[in-house]
Amino acid sequence: MQKQPTQGLTALLSERFGFASFRPHQQAICEAVTAGEDALVVMPTGAGKSLTYQLPGVARGGTTLVISPLIALIEDQAQKLSSMGFRAERIHSGLSREKSRSVCFSYLDGDLDFLFIAPERLGVPGFVEMLAKRRLALVAVDEAHCISHWGHDFRPDYRMLRERIPRLGESPVIALTATATPKVQDDILVQLGRPRANRFIHGFRRENIAIEMVEMTVSERADTACRLLATKGRRPAIIYAPTRKQAESVAAQLGRERRFKCAAYHAGMPPKERDEVQRAFLTGELEVIVATIAFGMGIDKSDIRTVVHLALPGSVEAYYQEIGRAGRDGEPSLAVLLYSYADIRVQEFFHERSYPEPQILEDVASHLDHEYIDPEDLADQVDLDMEKLQVVLHKLRIHGGAVIDFDERVRVGHDRWRDTYIEQREHKSSQLRLMARFPESTGCRMITLVRYFGDKDADQACGTCDVCAPKSTTVREFRTPTTKEARVLAGILDALIEWDDQATGRLFREVGTGMPRREFEALLGALVRADWLVIENTSFEKEGRNIPYRRVRLSAAGRRAAQRPTDAIGKLQLTVVAEKSSQRAKKSTGPTIRKKANVEKATSCKKTKTQELPTSVRPSGTEASTALVARIRAWRLEESRHRGVPAFRILTDRTLEAVAAAGPRNAVQLLAIKGIGPRLLELYGEELLELVVAVDSQL
Ligand code: ADP
Ligand code: MG
Repeated sequence: MQKQPTQGLTALLSERFGFASFRPHQQAICEAVTAGEDALVVMPTGAGKSLTYQLPGVARGGTTLVISPLIALIEDQAQKLSSMGFRAERIHSGLSREKSRSVCFSYLDGDLDFLFIAPERLGVPGFVEMLAKRRLALVAVDEAHCISHWGHDFRPDYRMLRERIPRLGESPVIALTATATPKVQDDILVQLGRPRANRFIHGFRRENIAIEMVEMTVSERADTACRLLATKGRRPAIIYAPTRKQAESVAAQLGRERRFKCAAYHAGMPPKERDEVQRAFLTGELEVIVATIAFGMGIDKSDIRTVVHLALPGSVEAYYQEIGRAGRDGEPSLAVLLYSYADIRVQEFFHERSYPEPQILEDVASHLDHEYIDPEDLADQVDLDMEKLQVVLHKLRIHGGAVIDFDERVRVGHDRWRDTYIEQREHKSSQLRLMARFPESTGCRMITLVRYFGDKDADQACGTCDVCAPKSTTVREFRTPTTKEARVLAGILDALIEWDDQATGRLFREVGTGMPRREFEALLGALVRADWLVIENTSFEKEGRNIPYRRVRLSAAGRRAAQRPTDAIGKLQLTVVAEKSSQRAKKSTGPTIRKKANVEKATSCKKTKTQELPTSVRPSGTEASTALVARIRAWRLEESRHRGVPAFRILTDRTLEAVAAAGPRNAVQLLAIKGIGPRLLELYGEELLELVVAVDSQL
């Protein structure tokens, strides 16, 4: 097909679609697709993705086949197009056989501009062959993230596309979604057999949302949220709570303070009550809603000024969706995350519940055969309560291990469900860890988000987040460094003058700070904000896994500061949590005392433990392994406090000692150690390897 002149597309846009002009990025996509190129479009909800298949479809002439996962979406889109005067039809399980047949005839007669189907329709015998009798103008796959088992809504029916789409002929394919990380993008295109399609990843930057992330204990968070929202201009607001119970208790607490009208919203409430809360929030009767993630789907309220998170969300995608509900009207808005690393445990609990151990699925699957059976009977056989069994069956169904009929009865499916399930399960938990690391990253928050989605628009810092504009934050405030902090800051500058551009973990050990890693990271953050340091997020590839780490180097300003460190550091501003500053000042010697206790404990561990070490794992008691055991132990203790989990959950004694004995120098050697798997490698690989190097270089 010839490239449609741009003029032609603009004319079609106004004549057939009634739009005066293109929205950002629509034109480029429409031109490429009209010219017959394949495309992947990833733009946020509401950006206007539909037009990017509709207009090219019309421009190319003939029928555009649209594959969409939900009947409701199909009906909605088909109706909209019909009302605009297009010949749009649909075939799905909600329509009578006669109706479907007549739609097929219309298609074969060339009477349709658009034909909408759900993906499972392609599995109906003869359907693909029927479609293939004509040449389709375009194939559009909407909500394309459903095709990838990495995506959050994986639909096995979408997997059929891989095999069926080529049988539809040579038509160009356009895939559209609002949410796909680069990994999911790759998977979508591979599944569609179009790995080299143009990628249009746009629009994730939200200029008017100022992001702020503040670490604090759970007990302080509700008060902080209440104070924050006491300012009128920060309402209406959504407060996201991690559990239903907390949503209720925080709503009750805020209600008692009577500063503004608020209510809880979660999936455990009776639907009528929930609808009432939602209605009251939309009309403005309620100014604040304390909700679990159940709230927000399809919420169309443009003037939400603030979104507060009372804990870490389960993934960066979820976080983006949730804060994205602020400021749809384009006015300045705020997103405040109150968190601590230990929040990850709540999320891990949810994860374990929604993605049970593969062994449990295995068990249930082994009780299925080709006869349909009632889930209740099955529950007795496998000794699971109904709720758990339903989760297991749902996962088995999605991954093909079970087939469920209209009466909810179940029979065995194929046995290839394991790989995709296990990958999906692991992917989810790695997304969780990525989210947990987000607040501790030192770059512009918006750039981090935009990059996460693979959006190219990632050069410009937002200028409003807590990293870009530390002086205008709402919850944090600033103070000058303590003597100890000043000493560490000077140490950092020194170390970088000596050896610029090193991994942050190595720098930490080299400076020998006598402070926990997170306090050290906070100081690095302050230096980045002062423009003295540049931190680069990078990664190395090992066994197909991407292991992230960060490198740090001095900027020109940093070099200048290093010339007169005392002066410069005295003027530096460090962040603290506001309102808490008075308490902190009182306790300012606290961390030092705690730290001493740490070190003592670590040292005594070293003495006793190294004496007890079995000779088999300690190569003739070399100095290296003894020193290394102590270093890894000290690190483990700190990490366990930091994460709020027992030390053995970080690394068991046995694994720790095996690492010290082996002294691995790279990820491959590390992985070869018994007890170190991909998960540990990803979590701690970088730090363990750095410990080895640090101890070696001291000897
Ligand atoms: P998405 O699929 O990206 O979530 P839609 O395609 O449903 O978004 O579009 C969202 C809204 O924007 C729709 O109401 C649509 O009519 C409108 N829209 C799309 N393109 C334009 C345009 N160029 N000018 C004006 N409105 C547009
Ligand atoms: Mg859409």
